[in-house]
Amino acid sequence: MLPGWGLSNYLVSLNGICHPERQRRISELDLRSFADAQDDKIIRKMASNTQDDKYHHGHSYFKEKIMLKMSDLDLKNKRVIIREDFNVPIANGKITNDARIKAALPTIELALKNGAAVILLSHLGRPTEGTIDSELSLSAVADALSKCLNKPVRFISDWLNGFDIQPGEIVLCENTRFNVGEKKDDALLSQKIAALGDIFVMDAFGAAHRAEASTHGVVQYAKVACAGPLLMTELNALGKAMDNPEHPLLAIVGGSKVSTKLGVLENLVNKVDCLITGGGIANTFLAAAGFPIGKSLYEKEFIATAQQLLKTAKERNVQIPLPVDVVVSKEFSVTAKATVKGIHDVSDDDLILDIGPTTATQFSHFIQSAKTIVWNGPVGVFEIPQFSEGTKAIGEAIAHSKAFSLAGGGDTLAAIDQFHLHDKISYLSTGGGASLEYIEGKVLPAVAILEKHAS
Ligand code: ATP
Repeated sequence: MLPGWGLSNYLVSLNGICHPERQRRISELDLRSFADAQDDKIIRKMASNTQDDKYHHGHSYFKEKIMLKMSDLDLKNKRVIIREDFNVPIANGKITNDARIKAALPTIELALKNGAAVILLSHLGRPTEGTIDSELSLSAVADALSKCLNKPVRFISDWLNGFDIQPGEIVLCENTRFNVGEKKDDALLSQKIAALGDIFVMDAFGAAHRAEASTHGVVQYAKVACAGPLLMTELNALGKAMDNPEHPLLAIVGGSKVSTKLGVLENLVNKVDCLITGGGIANTFLAAAGFPIGKSLYEKEFIATAQQLLKTAKERNVQIPLPVDVVVSKEFSVTAKATVKGIHDVSDDDLILDIGPTTATQFSHFIQSAKTIVWNGPVGVFEIPQFSEGTKAIGEAIAHSKAFSLAGGGDTLAAIDQFHLHDKISYLSTGGGASLEYIEGKVLPAVAILEKHAS
């Protein structure tokens, strides 16, 4: 594998050629992990998904039978603790992307409308437990929330031993990760969090794959614990795509490395009818199938894994179509010259940076015949225009398809935004790591404990 790949390594070279807003957003996203970052428009779409009838009154795909939901409860005059995901980018005390705050609004507004006293919890960044890091304080979030809700939001730094709150009031507690024991899911800390209110609502899907005191432990000690609307919406969409899909089910897994998505690929090959790979992942599959890939990004140590996946796919009659043409260049830069080559013609000094037009058309045909589509990861270096066409074509094919389509991952959402497709995908999952773990078939601890608690 070549060193120095990935978005962060050529951000500098984007200077001057990229639209300043796009570049700011790319830099922001990169700084706070692409996987976790979200775009405003996407979150707005997601927040509207939360209120969308089809997720609430249609067929429910998630195994709801053992999940208590916020909508099942009488919140009047109750102190309702809502675990949010306010892990937003903050630079010099200013929130540079308030998408996650906007995504949380429908749940908060619903709780207020139903007469609750609202206590909000969230983590921010990765502070050292036991130390107060002012740069990772949620105080800026309190101000932003207050503006969005047009209501005062009381910010409390020292909240662990409780405070007074009245119905109709909103309190935002300081970063849960300032407390010793948060990450270790400490029982005593969990008890203290639970004691803050009458009802605990888990609504932070983006943190549901972490068993921490404020996402997991608290459920064991809360008088009542339930799932919030945003969490339910995410789970329903993922359940619809992964647990009860209408076939043919097609997955597109792109991005840079097989190693980061190995579990996802292994689970998908046992579920899907067609698996399209892209980016560095496709290069590893091409190498595994014996095609020349020149100097392209790939993982030598995962060739055997890719061969095994190809074998399993064949046995299961799952299609893994490999590119028949690719866009190559001699260098990885924004000024690089792009050339389309047949897959047999890649030379030793070529870098494969996108799928070619014939491949894009073939993949689009597969996409058109699918009834359910799951998309995670770009199929090329979409941030550079001359290597973005493949990802654009895939995105547009999904947008034109009548299938239920679910997309997730920071880079995928950034690409969807770049190509203005955010309104044309059925569901945009905001969970990053959490959605990948779901697709991998893993149990999300914060969800599992809610189920256990309710049964
Ligand atoms: P996220 O982690 O944000 O969810 P992801 O998991 O979908 O993103 P990554 O594994 O981080 O994806 O890889 C995305 C990156 O891979 C993009 O920055 C893209 O430019 C890069 N990429 C795609 N195709 C190639 C390629 N052929 N060669 C090198 N890099 C590529």
